This record gives sequence, C-alpha cells and structure tokens, in this order.
Amino acid sequence: MGADIIDGKAFAAKLRGRIAEAVADLKRGKGLVPGLAVVLVGEDPASQVYVRNKGRQTLEAGMASEEHRLPATTGQAELLALIARLNADPAVHGILVQLPLPAQIDTAAVIGAVSPEKDVDGFHVINVGRLATGQKALVPCTPLGCLMLLRDRLGDLSGANALVLGRSNIVGKPMAQLLLGESCTVTIAHSRTRDLAATCARADILVAAVGRPEMVKGDWIRPGATVIDVGINRVEGPDGKARLVGDVDFASAAEVAGAITPVPGGVGPMTIACLLANTLTAACRANGLEAPAGLAV
Ligand code: NDP
Repeated sequence: MGADIIDGKAFAAKLRGRIAEAVADLKRGKGLVPGLAVVLVGEDPASQVYVRNKGRQTLEAGMASEEHRLPATTGQAELLALIARLNADPAVHGILVQLPLPAQIDTAAVIGAVSPEKDVDGFHVINVGRLATGQKALVPCTPLGCLMLLRDRLGDLSGANALVLGRSNIVGKPMAQLLLGESCTVTIAHSRTRDLAATCARADILVAAVGRPEMVKGDWIRPGATVIDVGINRVEGPDGKARLVGDVDFASAAEVAGAITPVPGGVGPMTIACLLANTLTAACRANGLEAPAGLAV
C-alpha cells in the first residue's frame, strides 16, 4: 500500500478539542454558552443513535444541548410551531432537524422554516445561496469536514483538478462549491456522466459521495491523488457479518493514491465535529463575533 491514510478520527478529536477551548473562552470572556437544539420526529433507530451521539458530543464540548423528541404521528403545524419557538429562543444558536422526516411532513418546508442564522445543517436555501455567492454561510457538515481534511493534507488547493462524484444537496453540490471557493478546477460527476473512469483519472482531488459500495477502483485514480471517501455502505463480509465500506475500493485505491480516507474512521467522525463547529460559528455570529479561524467559510 502506497497511500498515506488520512486519519479523520484523530483529526475530528483534535477539532473537538479546539472547539471546546473556544467554547470555554467564550464562557469566560463573554458569558456566552453556545446552544444546539436537535429535533427528532419518530423512532428511526439510526436517527436515534445519531441524535444521542450529537447530544453527547455537544455537552462534551461545553455547549448546551437540548433534544426534542416528537412522536412519528406529529403533524407539520406542530413541528413548525416548535421550530418557531426555537428560532425565537436566544439560548439556542443552532437548530438541527434530524432527517428523514415522516411522510406526512414536508421536509423542504421544515428546512425553510429554520432561521438561516441557526441552520447548522446548512440546508436552508439562504445558506446554499450564500455559499454559492462566496458570502459567509453555514455550510453542510460533511463537505465542510472533507474540506478541512483536504486543507490539512494539501494546504493551498488552488489550481488543483477536483472531481466530486455525486451531486446531492447535502454532499456533492456543497462540496463542489467549497472546492470552487478554494480555486480548484471543479468537475461534478453523477449517474449520467460518460466514461467515469477517465474523468476520475484527471483528478488531483477525488471526493466520492455516491452511496455505491467500492465503486471507484484503483485503476480509475490518478497516481498520487488525494482521495476522500464519503460513502458509508453496509455490506455483508466473507464471514457473513455486516461491515462498513466506502464508495472507493480501498485496497486497490490505496496502491495508487497519495493519500486516502478509510471507511470507517475517515470522513464519518468529521461530520458531528463540524456540527459543533457550525454551532460555535452560529453562536459567535449571533453575538457579533468572528468564528474561530478555519472553522467556517
Ligand atoms: P445521494 O443518493 O443523495 O446521491 C448520490 C449521488 O451519486 C447522486 O448524485 C447520483 O447521481 C450519484 N450516483 C449514484 N450512482 C452512481 C453511479 N453508478 N455513477 C455515478 N454517479 C452515481 O447520496 P448522498 O450524497 O446523500 O450520500 C452519498 C454517500 O455518502 C452515501 O454512501 C451516504 O451514506 C454517505 N454519507 C456519509 C456521510 C458521513 O457523515 N460520512 C454523510 C452523508 C452521506 P444522480 O444525481 O445522477 O442520481
């Protein structure tokens, strides 16, 4: 194996430590405690685990955490009323509505109801527009985490050929905008892209977010490229047990790439760390302060 392994778990732990220090400074200096409210509708088991982890890590960073658990039968009006209360609460700086929402609820309307200044998921169209026009924005957590890993590995990204594989609103599109903001030459590939292998082979930076287990093969990758694997796919291993793999075939890619994130332990741990970063950013900006350097765009 030739590639360096990008240790997202260690990076995320350091980032959480930095955030906790900044939170302690805010408390001491300004009497300000950043607060995150997480809203969970229904009993989806994976969502329950995510919400628990988010709450725990928020408290560990010294922030205030509140959870609002609503039954799966909750109606749209009730959820919007809760969001309105949280929007108006000065102790809440970040609001996260855990997705997916039950079918009776209009997800776009809920995302649109969260105050853009508290939208720590970065999904509100105002934040999408701010990111696209180079203004200060709250940015979706997963691509923000990928950008931090890339900056840490490569320093200045300007002029690099970057390929983003996937064009979802939560990963692919914001990732492409962030890389454009770093002055990369950005290509976005998707299910209709012709000759994906040749397109990948031109990339100095390859971010894979397709949700297809081990789709990107080593011989698609430019020698020395930096590969960020966002995919989280549960597959059955040879022993019949479930295991997690990324969208990149790690074994063959690691022979060719310069650096690569593993799955698990790469991008995954960065997502919640960046949620904490966004909550800190939102709290700072709500109080007329700059967000700590490197945590926000
Ligand atoms: P989506 O399903 O929303 O988007 C997948 C994208 O991949 C689409 O743009 C789709 O193209 C493209 N695609 C699918 N199949 C192919 C193919 N065969 N060739 C080329 N492009 C293809 O997924 P997400 O963006 O939400 O997530 C992507 C992956 O990242 C998933 O594995 C998910 O679990 C993981 N993830 C990980 C997170 C983390 O914290 N680490 C957070 C969020 C997601 P088209 O638009 O044409 O259909």
